Amino acid sequence: MHPVKIAVPGPFHEPLVYLHHTAVAPGIRCRVPLGKREVVGVVVDSKISTREIDTSKLKSVKATLDEQPILPENILKLAGWMSRYYLHEFSSSFLLALPKLLRDGEPATLAAEKWLSLTIAGEALEPAQLKRSEKQQALLSFVQQQRRCSLKSAKEHGHDSAQVKALEKKNFIEVEAVSLHEPVAASGQLNEPSLRLNDDQQHALAHLNETGFQATLLEGVTGSGKTEVYLQAIERCLKQGRRALVLVPEIGLTPQTLRRFQNRFADEVISLHSGLSDNQRKNNWLKASLGQAAILIGTRSAILTPIPDLGLIVVDEEHDQSYKQQDTLRYQARDIALMRARNEGIPIILGTATPSLESLHHARNGHYSYLQLNQRAAGQSLPHVETVDMRKQDQRQGLSEKMLLRIKEHLGDGNQVLLFLNRRGYAPSWFCEDCGWIADCVYCDAHLTHHRHNNLNICHHCGFQQAPVRQCPNCHSHEVSAMGTGTERAEELLAECFAEVPIIRFDSNITSTRKKFEEQLKQTEVPGPAIIIGTQMLAKGHHFERVTLVGIWDIDTGLFSADLRARERMGQLLTQVAGRSGRGSKRGEVLIQTHYPDNPIFEPLLKHDYRQFAVELLEERQRTGLPPFGYLAVIRADSPYAERCEARLKEMAHYLIGLGTVRVLGPLPALMSRRAGKHRYMIIVQSDKRSTLHQALNPLHKHYPREAQQVSWHIDIDPADLA
Ligand code: ADP
Ligand code: ZN
Ligand code: ZN
Repeated sequence: MHPVKIAVPGPFHEPLVYLHHTAVAPGIRCRVPLGKREVVGVVVDSKISTREIDTSKLKSVKATLDEQPILPENILKLAGWMSRYYLHEFSSSFLLALPKLLRDGEPATLAAEKWLSLTIAGEALEPAQLKRSEKQQALLSFVQQQRRCSLKSAKEHGHDSAQVKALEKKNFIEVEAVSLHEPVAASGQLNEPSLRLNDDQQHALAHLNETGFQATLLEGVTGSGKTEVYLQAIERCLKQGRRALVLVPEIGLTPQTLRRFQNRFADEVISLHSGLSDNQRKNNWLKASLGQAAILIGTRSAILTPIPDLGLIVVDEEHDQSYKQQDTLRYQARDIALMRARNEGIPIILGTATPSLESLHHARNGHYSYLQLNQRAAGQSLPHVETVDMRKQDQRQGLSEKMLLRIKEHLGDGNQVLLFLNRRGYAPSWFCEDCGWIADCVYCDAHLTHHRHNNLNICHHCGFQQAPVRQCPNCHSHEVSAMGTGTERAEELLAECFAEVPIIRFDSNITSTRKKFEEQLKQTEVPGPAIIIGTQMLAKGHHFERVTLVGIWDIDTGLFSADLRARERMGQLLTQVAGRSGRGSKRGEVLIQTHYPDNPIFEPLLKHDYRQFAVELLEERQRTGLPPFGYLAVIRADSPYAERCEARLKEMAHYLIGLGTVRVLGPLPALMSRRAGKHRYMIIVQSDKRSTLHQALNPLHKHYPREAQQVSWHIDIDPADLA
């Protein structure tokens, strides 16, 4: 009997050992007994000698599910690293690598599909010899380029069944419904010519490595032609017969990006994201892993998809928060992408208008190559950005007279207006509407955060608590309250003031499905005035041709958040939002309502100088030892019982402090200190060295059960926020 190590779903921090009568290769799925159940696991190691272990108590594998490994060695290695790095259940990253149906044990076979291939006659024929039918000529040369292509791909590239039938009838191509398991070579042939690059773009393309590991930060304002650079870098990669992986932040962006890539390339382009059915996901995953697609475009979890001969990874909008998974395995897909590129010895491009502080830091210190696109490709000018001082404005329901007036003007000219709500990282301060005073901690140089459920202002640095004052100690006004409570009323007001103008909302209900999201997007294409209201997600990549005014009405809630990345995000948001305005032919305008127009955050941003803004933040991070100059983890716990929750974290904090190697802060109540009936607390752990942090945290799960006495806890390595 052979012992094999298998990643088995469950709260295990190591693979489990089972026996099998033959050796099983790593990457093969097995059905194994676990307690009273049977589960599907993935073999991760089969080179263990029976001398190392007592085999008498081991259980046997019930069945192997694959003949060939479905996860290749590089993915197994990456997944193993991920599980250990993020200190989560060992199997979680292996399961993440597989689509649901394969996780559940379904056979790894592709659904039959129609494939077109050339007959001998078709191979020899010059397309021009097909007289009087340009469409047939086009299809024939398409198949000749690909040698073999799926009917689906032919259709996506603008060919239709009529031409397929005609060529089949003339015996130039064959159409077979098969479940093909062979790779299809990438050709790099184009459907439409690529654009002539401007100087910046040319310089960028020339400085991107074609082979070997190299991380590049491609920083370019919105509309500067980053995507065109990706397309041409990918073309080079495909021409070498290698494949490319493109990560995009949200499913909302995949259809647009997918279309753009399909229009350009003759090779097959497929996508992986949560908008697909389980069956589609399984099929697309298998096609990618068999090498039948030249380009895979996907969201976060696509980073673990096996792709033979991968030659290039692109991470678009690399700063985007959605690359960080916020539950279970809390991984950061951009970081995994970097690790993958390094392991596989291939180049990776991180593209954005607003680099994360981490990437900017590595680019500035020379770890990454740093390329910039400094102008909008089509020559439009950047919008005019202005703050509106809310302390001096008459306002109605949180909308200033100035904002209302401008909205009216822009709508009157037949244009669209885009209004942003700032909902993410929402951390209300207690403040005075009239003078902008904010409640501060008595002991720290920090603002207090207002917690509504127990009506307390709490310091997130030292834990100091205080009942909110009812009168402003600065100007004696009684208009003191929690920031950002008025947006619903403001929306009602808009509907009243502009009753005849359609209001198109993008909120989390609407945008949870791709179909609804696309319907809303379509609506924005209807000519005529309209008001578009939405949250941060609208700041990403979308092109709103007719928007000339962008209004941000509640930015203040994010200015004083206790959260680590609040200001970085605010700067990214403002810059990205400004990029939404005036992308069409008319110059745009951006209005930012704030009680704090003198806040230094606005100065570089008003001048469109995100880089200066980010460099200032980096200097501050360096002074405080925060990422990327130090390393952080958050331990969060929740429980129906506040005392138990806090007590558990106190024990852990005590243990960690006792090690003497890391700095520990807390327990503190989480920003949202109660959710779904549970009390939530956290501790923050900091170190100057990554390895020290891991050494401290690694043994925690052995000392403290993940769930006990109705308290559960988890670790978040490199947290996106300290909430
Ligand atoms: P980004 O990805 O930086 O937002 P895109 O690549 O989407 O920018 O380019 C913005 C617009 O400019 C697109 O409509 C694109 O077709 C156009 N564009 C990009 N590069 C060029 C170029 N070299 N010449 C002309 N137009 C270009
Ligand atoms: Zn304090
Ligand atoms: Zn005041």
